Amino acid sequence: MSDLPVHDHWIDGRPTAGTDQQRLGDVFDPATGQARSRVRLAGVADVDAAVAAARAAATTWSETSVTARSRVMFTFRELLVQHEDELAAVISAEHGKTLDDARGEVVRGREVVEFACGIPQLLKGDFNDQVSAGVDSHSFRQPLGVVAGITPFNFPIMVPLWMHPVAIACGNTFVLKPSERVPGASDLVARLYQQAGLPDGVFNVVHGDKVAVDALLEHPDVDAVSFVGSTPIARHVHEGASRTGKRVQALGGAKNHAVVMPDADLDFAADHIVAAGYGSAGQRCMAISAVVAVGPAADTLVDKIRERTVDLTVGPGSRAGVDMGPVITRASRDRIVDFVGQAEDAGAKVVVDGRDLVVEGHEGGFFVGPTLVDHATTEMSVYTDEIFGPLLTVLRVATLDEAIELINANPFGNGTAVFTSSGEVGRSFQRRVKVGMIGVNVPVPVPMAFHSFGGWKDSMFGDHHMHGPEGVRFYTQAKVVTTRWPHVSEESLAQLNFPTAQ
Ligand code: NAD
Repeated sequence: MSDLPVHDHWIDGRPTAGTDQQRLGDVFDPATGQARSRVRLAGVADVDAAVAAARAAATTWSETSVTARSRVMFTFRELLVQHEDELAAVISAEHGKTLDDARGEVVRGREVVEFACGIPQLLKGDFNDQVSAGVDSHSFRQPLGVVAGITPFNFPIMVPLWMHPVAIACGNTFVLKPSERVPGASDLVARLYQQAGLPDGVFNVVHGDKVAVDALLEHPDVDAVSFVGSTPIARHVHEGASRTGKRVQALGGAKNHAVVMPDADLDFAADHIVAAGYGSAGQRCMAISAVVAVGPAADTLVDKIRERTVDLTVGPGSRAGVDMGPVITRASRDRIVDFVGQAEDAGAKVVVDGRDLVVEGHEGGFFVGPTLVDHATTEMSVYTDEIFGPLLTVLRVATLDEAIELINANPFGNGTAVFTSSGEVGRSFQRRVKVGMIGVNVPVPVPMAFHSFGGWKDSMFGDHHMHGPEGVRFYTQAKVVTTRWPHVSEESLAQLNFPTAQ
């Protein structure tokens, strides 16, 4: 038996080992390659227990005043501020990203809580006076019931925070199934909600893998599912939840292009492309992975990216001065290295090669150095696949039209950016690309919490994007009421024909 600490589930306001106690997974420190803790992998009975707790809490919570729900969010927000360093430390240790990067995700996630604090304003309905003689009409929105959230490894706190503050503020109860590779932040979040005064059962965590996800998709008492992860699993979740009649939003993978026009400030573009490509070791769904160099400036641009890439410091995320940490698993490292080899074999030029990087004192860590591949084509696997690592691929085209055509032919449509000094180019680009989130001289255009986050095409299945106004719509359903208070002494005016305004 291992003596590593174990992450329990959090059901009905307390930690529990659950019923399926034999199934455990290792949680690694990617900087050393060693397991640092173990996580419970829920069975169907554990999912049943979490959903039952959420269902039992749903009636009271949905009847709790919107002001009281908002106040819980205000307190929860303060606790996230107080525990920022603790959260960043656990995220960095389990994921590998730098402490500053981890703090950044805590802050961006907290902004969704700040948005959810305004829920009384967000849930205001509409009212029409006198839609017909003596008749008024109003609409309002009500919570769905029990919502499940299934999240990826790459943002252990921010992606779950895209979901549960909005769902809970809207009056739903929540079951979170976080990535089994990064369970620590969710454990702490559950305790902070309790400290904030959230009643037991409103927020639950089941740790687990496919077994837990499929049990949530099948469960008749789950009303809606929010998912973020890779495209094949997003498809699976969208299909499974739709088959069982649930509302579902499933965000998938990405291939994000940065188009660099000849009129762009190339130093500015290179700085931002390096940050967007290698930050968090390229493991952001909005990371730039394909650079589309337009026209004759391509050689200069590649040179500027190369100069900046070789200057980056790679090491454990907890060490001061490190720009980039390891990737999440050994398998992920090996897969990235393999893609570089495939690109080389297909005729691309490896300008900066991170394949053989060894970090002294961390020889067992899952490190791969920042890698730059030039002269790639749209047929190469380095371009067609989502690689999710510190690998920037440069493609060259002659015109903006060709660049837009290339982006629109790609099956993914999460994020994209254009670097230019022309307003006309910026405007044309944003109107013509089939992508959900667009940056003009902004390489990672992640929308603020009061807008909504989501891609197009294979980057998103379902109708509503996350957080912001679309999040409120996703977690509520609308009612329209038509009201008449007839004068009691009036004769009966009942008519059998279809009512029209009088
Ligand atoms: P993943 O798809 O492997 O896992 C996501 C979740 O699904 C996890 O909770 C995991 O336990 C579960 N899961 C994994 N395999 C499953 C299966 N066969 N059946 C049912 N459930 C399963 O993704 P990941 O590796 O954790 O995260 C990286 C991926 O997430 C990348 O593709 C990235 O682009 C994507 N991502 C997308 C966004 C976005 O907003 N579109 C944001 C972050 C990450």
